[in-house]
Parts: sequence; C-alpha cells; structure tokens
Amino acid sequence: MYDVIVVGARAAGAPTAMLLAQKGYKVLLADRAHFPSDSPLANLIQLKGCAALKRWGLLERVQASNCPPVSKAILQIGEYSLQGEYLPLDGTGATVCPRRSILDKILIEAAAVAGAEIRGDLVVEELLTDNGQVIGVSGRLKSIQGAREIRVEEKAALVVGADGKHSLIAKSVQAAMYQVKPVLACVFYTYWEGFGPTNGELYYLAREAIGLWPTNAGLINIFAAYPVNEFQAIRRNIEARFWKTAESVPGLAERLRNGRRVERFYGTADLPAFYRRPYGPGWALVGDAGMTLDPFTGQGIGNAFRDAERLVDAVDAGFSGRSTFEAALAEYEYERNRETLPMYEFTEKLAAFCPLPDEQRLLLAALVDKPEGIRRLLGALSGSISLNEFFSPSSLLHIVGIKGMLSMFSNKLKKSGSISEQ
Ligand SMILES: Cc1cc2nc3c(=O)[nH]c(=O)nc-3n(C[C@H](O)[C@H](O)[C@H](O)COP(=O)(O)OP(=O)(O)OC[C@H]3O[C@@H](n4cnc5c(N)ncnc54)[C@H](O)[C@@H]3O)c2cc1C
Repeated sequence: MYDVIVVGARAAGAPTAMLLAQKGYKVLLADRAHFPSDSPLANLIQLKGCAALKRWGLLERVQASNCPPVSKAILQIGEYSLQGEYLPLDGTGATVCPRRSILDKILIEAAAVAGAEIRGDLVVEELLTDNGQVIGVSGRLKSIQGAREIRVEEKAALVVGADGKHSLIAKSVQAAMYQVKPVLACVFYTYWEGFGPTNGELYYLAREAIGLWPTNAGLINIFAAYPVNEFQAIRRNIEARFWKTAESVPGLAERLRNGRRVERFYGTADLPAFYRRPYGPGWALVGDAGMTLDPFTGQGIGNAFRDAERLVDAVDAGFSGRSTFEAALAEYEYERNRETLPMYEFTEKLAAFCPLPDEQRLLLAALVDKPEGIRRLLGALSGSISLNEFFSPSSLLHIVGIKGMLSMFSNKLKKSGSISEQ
C-alpha cells in the first residue's frame, strides 16, 4: 500500500513523485514508457520552469548536459522586431531547451534519489474504486524480450494522474472539463546542426510562425506553426512549406542552408486546449492531464512544474491534517487557474493567427527602442512577471507614454462602438 501512486513520469509526474518522497511519503511513480525515451517535442523551458529546476537543485544538471542557457531572444511580430534579455525570475535569467530524453532522465533520477519507487513499462488500465473513492490502479507490466506480461494491482490513499492530455485517470473519473477551446494551430518540429544561433528566435508572421532555440549537443530545435485547417495539405509537402516560411524571415533561409537538418519533420495537430477539475475522492490531476494549452507560447513544462509543487503542498496539507483534502485541493485548482488563465487566453489568440488589434500594434511600435520594456515583455512570456502586470495601465503608460495611452483607449472605444470615427 502506497501513500500516493503517480501515473506518468515526465514533466508533471516525476517532480510530483520527487517532492512527495522528499516529504517522506511512500510513492510509486509508474509509466508505460521504457525510459529513457525521447519525444520529438520542442522543450523550451521558460524562466518559470527554470526557477523551479533551480529550487530543486536540478538546473545545473540540465545545463551540464550540454544544453546552453539562452538569456536573449529575438521576437518578431509582424513588422516589429524586438530583441532583448529576459527579466530574471528568482535570480534565473536564462531559459533552457533540453531534449526530452535528457530532461526526463534527470527528473526521474531525482525522484528515485528522493525515495520514490520507479516502475517503467507499467501500463495502467483501470482505477480501483471503493464506494466512489479511488483506492488504486490495475494494469500490466509490458512483456519484455518475450517474457509473459504480468498483471499488476497496487493500492494507495491517493492516485495522481500525470498521464498527459489524453489522461486515462481523468477519463476514468470523468473529470469535468471547462474553458475548452477548439484546436487552432498545427505544428512541425525538427533539429538542425551546423549553424549556431545563441539566442532564442521567434518570428510570428501572418498565418504562420517559426521559432529556433538552441538545444543539447550544438543542435537547434526548430518549429513552424500554421493554422490547423492547413495541416493535411502541409504535411504532404512540409519541406516546401517550411522553406517558404523560412524565406519570409530576412536572412533565415540562407542561415539554414549553411547548416543541415539532422532529423525528419515531426508534425501534429493534436493540440487541444482545456482545463479539467483536478481532484476528487482519492484522485488528483497534475500537468497536461489537468490543463493543456496550445504549445505556441511554450508554457506546458513550466506549468507542470508549478502544478507539481502546488499539488504536493495541497496533498501534504491534507495528509498532515493541516487542512481537509477538499479545501487544500480546491485551493490548488484556484491558484492554478488564477496563474495560468491570462496566458491561456493570450496563447489561444496567437494560435488563431488573428491580425493584431491596433492598440497592440501601437504597443509593439513603442517597444522597439525600449530595452526595459522588451525585458518586461519577454519576462511576461516567460513567467517572471504576469501578463496582467505587463498589460497594466501603469506599465503601458511607462512604455507608450500619455499620448499613446489615449490613442489605445480611443481605439478600444471605437472598437466597442462607444465612439464613432469622425
Ligand atoms: C508539439 C508540442 C510541442 C511542445 N513544446 C513545448 C515547449 O517548447 N515548451 C513547453 O513548456 N511545453 C511544450 N509543450 C507542452 C509540453 O510538452 C507538455 O505541457 C508537457 O509535456 C506536459 O507534461 P506531462 O508530464 O503533464 O505530460 P506528458 O509529457 O504527456 O507525460 C505523460 C506521461 O504519462 C504516461 N502515461 C500516459 N498514460 C499512461 C498509462 N495509462 N499508464 C502509464 N503511463 C501512462 C506517458 O507514457 C507519458 O510518459 C509542447 C507540446 C506539444 C504537443
């Protein structure tokens, strides 16, 4: 019998297991994958996530895996090109973009060192319940090298679903979904070698975007995003479409031609966006299982890390009697939503490739020659300040001045129909 079984051992599950084990709980961390396993996903970890890695003593290990810290970024939105450094968070001023096999290995090893029992190749198939209360899991250990599959049944006071956006745990308990958005974008990823940007680069163009981030071993992780209704057509000839996108950014195609693509393009349109109620009797959800957003703004890993910390605090409060489970987990849900909702809405607007509203164009134009403003914008995208703080009246006043504020205000009123054009 365990205190907690965590199903899923990646960005959300491994830190949850580590933090629980550090508090002395008996934890089983199970995953159907055979580790270390790579995933072609981009893995930009924003400052919010890097600060969590630092708190856990793991940031140095990630950087030491030949994964360079990236403290500057170029952000081009339409005709506006903004370049600058990140506003630091808790002394951390650089993002990292490790390969998934490397990040997951570091996180799982840290969970094991903390005392969690790790079981790979364990496919959880069902929840065990008693009177509506989840009391454990059942599944099978995958057959390895022809050996017979072994049925497994494990019990725990709490089962945590860290099993990703298609979470079996969430579906089994019928966790309520809310703020559900349609899939808006599709994305293609690959890796490049032989040319070495040391900055992060993100070009948001009309109806397409392309981003580059240095990852392990001198490679560059590159993604290109498009409206989802173009997915089938693009995947038939991603090569041509990718180069067309690269040609749209001055100098980029030439830089890419100086290097070499070292992996195929991986494409997906499986990019849902939703929140789920993340707790109930004997169960809780963490990471993508509880809340998923389009990867456009690269928030998922940082969100998963913060979720893990908050969930562990809530669970500890429940187990120790400092609070009821119900109250502590309600607080966990509230704080998760409070922190993530503005970025969730912002990300969905970007993923829709809508033309920028006039007031945002004005803001971007004003930012071009304001390094401190750019630092704050990058900080807002990376988690060192909130988006609400960046878009607050006092912050905008600082960036665009009083005339700019009046113009933004009148644009808003015109759009809302409160005043008409003369
Ligand atoms: C194309 C793409 C690009 C992205 N790029 C970025 C980025 O640059 N930066 C960023 O921050 N985020 C990015 N994200 C989002 C990020 O990948 C996720 O938010 C993050 O991986 C969520 O971690 P997780 O641990 O919650 O879930 P997952 O990483 O999905 O892990 C779930 C784990 O659960 C296991 N599992 C599932 N079901 C079972 C079962 N029944 N039994 C046992 N094990 C099970 C799986 O094997 C898996 O290991 C991207 C996402 C996509 C789709």
